[in-house]
Amino acid sequence: MSQIFEKLVPYMNQAMAFQAALTLFEWDQETLAPALADEYTANVIGEISQAYQKIMIDEQVKKLLEKLKEEKNFSELTENEKAIVKEWNIIVEQLDSIPEKEYSEYARLQAKAGNIWEKAKEEGDFSKFAPCLEEIINYKKKFISYRRKKGSYKKKKDYDILLGDYEPEFNMEKLDKFFHEVKQEIIPLLKKVEKKNTEIDKSFNHQSYEINKQREFCQWLAAYVGFDFSKGVIGESAHPFSTNLHNHDVRISNHFYENNLESAIFSIIHETGHAMYEQGIDSDITLTLIGTGTSMAMHESQSRFFENMIGRSESFWTYVYPKLQKTFPDNLRDVSLEQFISGINKAEPGLIRTEADELTYSLHVLIRYEIEKMIFQEDVKIKDLPKIWNEKYKEYLGLVPSHDGEGILQDIHWACGDFGYFPSYAIGSAVSAQIYHHLEKIMPVNQYLEEGNLLPIREFLKEHVYQHGKRKSTNEILLDITGEEFNSFYYIEYLKQKFQ
Ligand code: ZN
Repeated sequence: MSQIFEKLVPYMNQAMAFQAALTLFEWDQETLAPALADEYTANVIGEISQAYQKIMIDEQVKKLLEKLKEEKNFSELTENEKAIVKEWNIIVEQLDSIPEKEYSEYARLQAKAGNIWEKAKEEGDFSKFAPCLEEIINYKKKFISYRRKKGSYKKKKDYDILLGDYEPEFNMEKLDKFFHEVKQEIIPLLKKVEKKNTEIDKSFNHQSYEINKQREFCQWLAAYVGFDFSKGVIGESAHPFSTNLHNHDVRISNHFYENNLESAIFSIIHETGHAMYEQGIDSDITLTLIGTGTSMAMHESQSRFFENMIGRSESFWTYVYPKLQKTFPDNLRDVSLEQFISGINKAEPGLIRTEADELTYSLHVLIRYEIEKMIFQEDVKIKDLPKIWNEKYKEYLGLVPSHDGEGILQDIHWACGDFGYFPSYAIGSAVSAQIYHHLEKIMPVNQYLEEGNLLPIREFLKEHVYQHGKRKSTNEILLDITGEEFNSFYYIEYLKQKFQ
C-alpha cells in the first residue's frame, strides 16, 4: 500500500463507521422507532452527519488527496485505491463547498421533514408540507450555488448538478431524449393495451390472504431468489426499502396487505434484487468508499431485473406457482397459472407510482422529472405544484388525483431532499432490459427458471455487476456485458413486445 494512502485509511474507517451508524438509525426510524422519537433522534443524526462530514474533509485528508493528484504518487496506487481516491475527491468537492453549520442544520431539517410530510400526506393536504418543502428546496439551491463556485461544477446547469449526484453519466440532454422516446412509444401503446384489458380477471389478487402466511411465503421466496439470510435480515415498514451497513449486513423490509397478495410478493423480489447486489460486493472493498452499488440506476436495474424480467415471467412461476397455490389453497385452487400470469402482468394507468405496472411506470417518473426541472430550472412557485402535478397526470395517464395524498404527496423523496433521484428508476428499468436482452442470448434463461435454478443468473450478475461496487461505472458495466453503453432501444422494444 502506498504510504500516502495508508495515512488516509484511518479517516476512511471512521467515516465509514459514522455512515454505518446513520444507516442503522435510518433503518430503525423506518421499522421500530417509537412515533415521538423523531425530533430527538433528529438531533443525534445531525451530530453524526456533521462528524462524518468533518472527517471526510479534514485538512489532513485534503492535503493527502492533493499529494495523490501528482501522477507519480497516483500511479503507485492499486486499482481499488485509485477508485477510492477518485470517489473521495468527488465527495470532497460536494461537501467542502457547504459550510459545516448549514450542513448540519439541513440534516436536522431533513430528519424532521419525513414526519411533516407523512402527516400532510395522511390529511391529503399539500399546504401543510409546502413551507417545509420550500425550505428544503432553498437549501438545495443554496448548496448548488456553493458547489458552482468550485471546479468541475462551474459550467453545469442547476438540475444537472443534482442529477449527477445519482447518475454521473447522465444529464438533462440525455434524459430529455430518453423520456421523449418513452413518451412517444408508450402513450399510444398504453391506449391500445387499455382496450384489451377489460378481459383480464384479476379479482383473485384482492381476496383475503392471511398475513402470516404471506410473511412465510415471502421469506421462502426471498431465499429462493437469492437473499442470503446469514448476511441479512428482513423487517417490516410502511414502505418496503433496502439498506446496508456493509456486505455482511444487508437489510430489506416488506409491507403486507390482507387484500393485495401481489404487493408483498413483488416488493420482496424487488428488494431482494437490491440486497443481492450489496451482499455480492467484494469483501476487500466493503466498508470503503467504493463498497456499494455503482449508481442508483444500476441498483434499480438489479431490483427491476428480478421483479419484472424474471419475476413476472411465465417460466419463473411455472416452478413457483404450485408452492403459492399450496400456501393459499382456498384462494388459488381454481386460478390457473395462465390466469395468474396475465393478472400479474396486467397494465392499467393508476395514480400511484409504486403500484404501477411495467408499462406505465416510466410515465410516473417522467412527470416527476418534468416537475423537478421546473423547480430547479424555471423557478416555479411551490404553491402551484399540486395543480401542475394533477394536469400532468391527466395528460399522460388520463387520471386526476382526488386529493394530494394520492397525488403530489405520495413519495417521500422530496422530503428527504432527494431531487434528481427519480430518473434513476426509469434509467434502471432500461438498463435491466438491456442486460436481459443480452442474457437471453448467452444462456437458456427460461429453461433455468422452469427448473427452479436461478444460480447461473445470479453468478453471472455477481461476476459482471455485484462484486465491483463502484469500481466500475454504469456504462463500463454495460459495455463489459453487452458490448455497448446505455441504449434505451432494448427497453422500448421489450415493452412493445410484451404489451403489443
Ligand atoms: Zn428499488
